[in-house]
Amino acid sequence: MKCPYCQESETKVVDSRLLKEGFSVRRRRKCDGCDKRFTTYETIEISMPNIVKLDGRREAYNRSKIYGGVEKACQKRPISTEQVERMVENVEKAMREISEKEVSTKDIGQIVMQYLRNLDPVAYIRFASVYRKFQDIEEFVHDIQHDEENFHSPLQQ
Ligand SMILES: [Zn+2]
Repeated sequence: MKCPYCQESETKVVDSRLLKEGFSVRRRRKCDGCDKRFTTYETIEISMPNIVKLDGRREAYNRSKIYGGVEKACQKRPISTEQVERMVENVEKAMREISEKEVSTKDIGQIVMQYLRNLDPVAYIRFASVYRKFQDIEEFVHDIQHDEENFHSPLQQ
């Protein structure tokens, strides 16, 4: 790697350190030409499947979109940033298990909802109501009401 100060291509690694539980390496380098030091990072790049949207259009996977959606749903709930991060990582893992090529936004929504459901009921309902289309929400509300009817019916008899 070239020195960012003098463009010299001969540099030496003077220190290496593992980061993120061994999934990343930080290297301190020293330039043979000007003796200045600089830092490089080596990380693992895993390719993610493309996203197929509801209208059939495709787009590249964007972690911040999922992260933003989950974070919003978890606002003011007892859920740590670390828990949100871990959840997004699990969602990504589940996506790669579905397909290496493409995954629909619908599938992603289902996966996220599954995780949120176990994590926090309020965050789950928030996410579900934002994520699902209006028709689906009606269906969703109907399902809940239906469950409640079933739940109350023994008492009414
Ligand atoms: Zn240099």
